Formats: sequence, structure tokens, C-alpha cells
Amino acid sequence: MKIKSLESFSNEFVSLVRLTTDDGHQGWGQISPYNADISATIMHRQVAPHAVGMEVPDTDGILDLVHRIYEREHKWPGSYMCRALGGLDTALWDLHGKIQQKSVCELLGGIPRPFPVYASSMRRDITPADEAKRLAALQQECGYTAFKFRVGKECGRDEDEWPGRSEAVVAEVRAALGDEARLLVDGNSCYTPQKAIEVGRMLEDHGICHFEEPCPYWELDWTRQVTEALSLDVTGGEQDNSLALWKYLTKDRIVDVIQPDICYMGGLSRSLEVAKMGAEAGLPCTPHSANLSLVTVFTLHMMGAIPNAGPYVEFSIEDEVDYYPWQKGLFSEPLVAKDGKVDIPAGPGWGVEISHSWLQSADYQITELA
Ligand SMILES: [Mg+2]
Repeated sequence: MKIKSLESFSNEFVSLVRLTTDDGHQGWGQISPYNADISATIMHRQVAPHAVGMEVPDTDGILDLVHRIYEREHKWPGSYMCRALGGLDTALWDLHGKIQQKSVCELLGGIPRPFPVYASSMRRDITPADEAKRLAALQQECGYTAFKFRVGKECGRDEDEWPGRSEAVVAEVRAALGDEARLLVDGNSCYTPQKAIEVGRMLEDHGICHFEEPCPYWELDWTRQVTEALSLDVTGGEQDNSLALWKYLTKDRIVDVIQPDICYMGGLSRSLEVAKMGAEAGLPCTPHSANLSLVTVFTLHMMGAIPNAGPYVEFSIEDEVDYYPWQKGLFSEPLVAKDGKVDIPAGPGWGVEISHSWLQSADYQITELA
């Protein structure tokens, strides 16, 4: 069975990939969101020519195929190559699931089931009072027991979004959600080590359990200082897509919890490698999945199967109308949080049906066997 074609259906925000074999089997994958149309071009120019015509690898061989393509394009390491490779990798996993009539979670040795999630806020433009109010409403409505919200300013060089916001949002969210709620915060590369440690102590006083990306993510020694100084979990890695860097991040325990993003990483196979490195270092894996495109579906399947899965999957609470209109209507059964959990889709492959009407609205490209 050979790969006959790779098709992409793209807009600026998201790109879905359909892989077809020479005997007519198909699998669906996704290129990483944002500038996805550019990544789709990369896929057709630098990934598909190496993949189309190749024998379909078995699931254990997908990683090797991805590695080989990355080696062929070794002058272009980095984000766009990984984003593009992710479309191929995730389509191959879906293909195998559909052929074997098993979910990807089952292919990995897990069992589809409701999996705990944390409600993840993406907003800094919201007042502490409004953030606390909407998280409390979601606690009632969806039974979430864990929540993430934002402190500092994105790449903020120690500045807050506005003076006093971080202290206020931490105190107000804690007061609104009660002592039992697990509270996580994200610094999005805001702080120098000294300031991060100061903020971290304030977070510890309010029982925050997870301080994500406290320092500019590329300043590994800064992050390490914060990890060593604080008792709460310092977490990170969502931007990192180099396996060489992940080796260092895990072996040297730069963070307490690793957070690869399956789409930024180049798909499931490379993300499983990172999870394995984490497991060897005794680190839990709580991936980054910050929108409700297929990245959260991929993450649910992986988390249902890996031994060092953290306690929850990231689940965006930003709605499709005002905030992320592009994530609307991609597939038929939207993910829904109930009792603080979301079902790992149980159907074959990724277990979701891609929407035909969405595909019709997208820009189309194909690379196929001559
Ligand atoms: Mg983050």
C-alpha cells in the first residue's frame, strides 16, 4: 500500500490534510493552526514530494518516515517544517485507525473514555472580576475542577498587562472558585527570574499549582532558576519542536511538567518521543492544546494512552463566535466538557467526521503520484 496523494484544505487559520493510498484508503490529519496556508504550501513543496509514492509505514514506522523527510530537508529545521509534517503524520495515524477499526488511543494501547480537562482561558483583556465570574459560571455549568488563566504580559519584560492585574486576578479567581479548585496560570514568557520568583511566591500563597512559561521560553537557564526556587510546578515547552532541545529540557529538568504541542511538534509520533523523554526523567506530560481544532482531539488520544500523562488535558473555553471563529464547524461532533471531562472520541482513527461544508469553503491543493 503506497501513499497516492496528499490534499490540503486551508485558510489562513487552519489546514486539514487528506491522505489517500493507492488502494483507496484515506486518513485525515491537520497542519498546525495559524498561518496554516503557509504551512500547507510547505507541506506540498517540502513534505509531500518525499512522501507520495512511498510505502505506507506501519504505526511504529511513522516516526522513521517523519525523521527521513526532516533529514531530506535538513537545511530547513524549525517551526514551519514541523507544522507541515504534522499534517502527514496525523493523517497516517488516522489512516491506520480506520483500517484497523480502532481509535488512535487504542492503537497506542489506551482506552477511549471521558478524560479530565482544565478550563483554559486565553484572555488578558478581561478584568479580574469578569474572569473570576465567567470561570465560576463554567465551574457550575461544566463541572470543571481545574482552570488556567493568565498573569503578566505576553513576552512582557516584567510588565503586567496593566498595573496590579496579576495579583488581582489570582486573588479574585481563588475567591470565586474556592479552595478545592486546581488553579494554573500562564506567564507567556513575561518575567526575568527574579520577578518570576517573586510572582511565584505570590502564586504559592494562593495555592496555584502550575506556573507556565514564567520566563522567555528561549532563556532555559532563567527557567531553570525559577523551577529550582519555587515549590509549585514550573511548566513549559509548548514552543519547542527540536528533539535535541527536548533531550536537554527533560534530562536537566528545566521544568517540572513538559508541555509539547502535537501540531507544533510535527505530529503525534514526535510528540510521543518527547513524552517518552519526559517519562524517562520522571516528568509528567500535560500538552499544549489551546484551541478546539483537531489539536485537542489528537491530545485527548495521546493522553489516554501515555504512562506519564498529567492529570488533565488543556481545553479552551474561548467561544467560536467572538474569539476563535475559525475553529467553528471543522468536524461534526464538537468536543463538550461534562463533569469536568471530555470524551476521547471512540470511533476509528481520530473518531471525528470532517465537515463537508467546511471543506468546500477552504483553498484546495493536491500533490499526487504522477
Ligand atoms: Mg502557554
